[in-house]
Amino acid sequence: TNFSSLGLPAALSDSLAAAGFIEPTLIQREAIPALVEGRDMLGIAQTGSGKTAAFALPILAAIMALPGRPRPMSARALILAPTRELAVQIEKAVRSFASGNKRITTALVLGGVSRQQQVLKLAKGVDVLVATPGRLNDLLDDGKVWLSETRFLVLDEADRMLDMGFIAPVKKIAKAVGHKRQTMLFSATMASNVAELAKGLLNDPVRVEA
Ligand code: AMP
Repeated sequence: TNFSSLGLPAALSDSLAAAGFIEPTLIQREAIPALVEGRDMLGIAQTGSGKTAAFALPILAAIMALPGRPRPMSARALILAPTRELAVQIEKAVRSFASGNKRITTALVLGGVSRQQQVLKLAKGVDVLVATPGRLNDLLDDGKVWLSETRFLVLDEADRMLDMGFIAPVKKIAKAVGHKRQTMLFSATMASNVAELAKGLLNDPVRVEA
């Protein structure tokens, strides 16, 4: 199996090969074809499984096929992560996967650092926004970001986001994104609070485990 046989465009599989991604991992083989088809996804996966590429590559493929640019103050895709460290790591991975395509823009929205730069970057509009829930919720309340144009929503490490008390901002952000979206939720465990959140956010999801 290679990445292009999973339904990804050659432009992406080429930049993956350059980054040393030759063989897709189990979760990538399971998830990518369903995500390329536009399905919602419930993924039980640990760090190290290759889940970042599993959700990021189909999103990048879809965005690369879109005409024009993201609208000012908008993000075409939103990836929520529980911690700053994880968000930084995800954004770095997304940028490396998209390196063959200079048109793709990314941004990071994190707590604990100045809002100024984040607000300026969002004002131009971005393709892929990676955020922690607390700070993004603040920017949403202040009218600095507009999520109604967002068509892809990822909740990574959803169990940790709930453990950290992010249930209210996560639900509010998902509501701001609206219903016209593809949603992916990844979690290391399927505790009842995670299952409940998934039920409220996902529409007939494909289940994958790795
Ligand atoms: P993740 O579980 O997404 O944090 O990925 C774990 C590590 O595996 C990261 O360092 C990735 O760069 C790497 N990785 C993910 N998928 C592949 C692949 N198909 N081939 C080689 N390395 C990979």
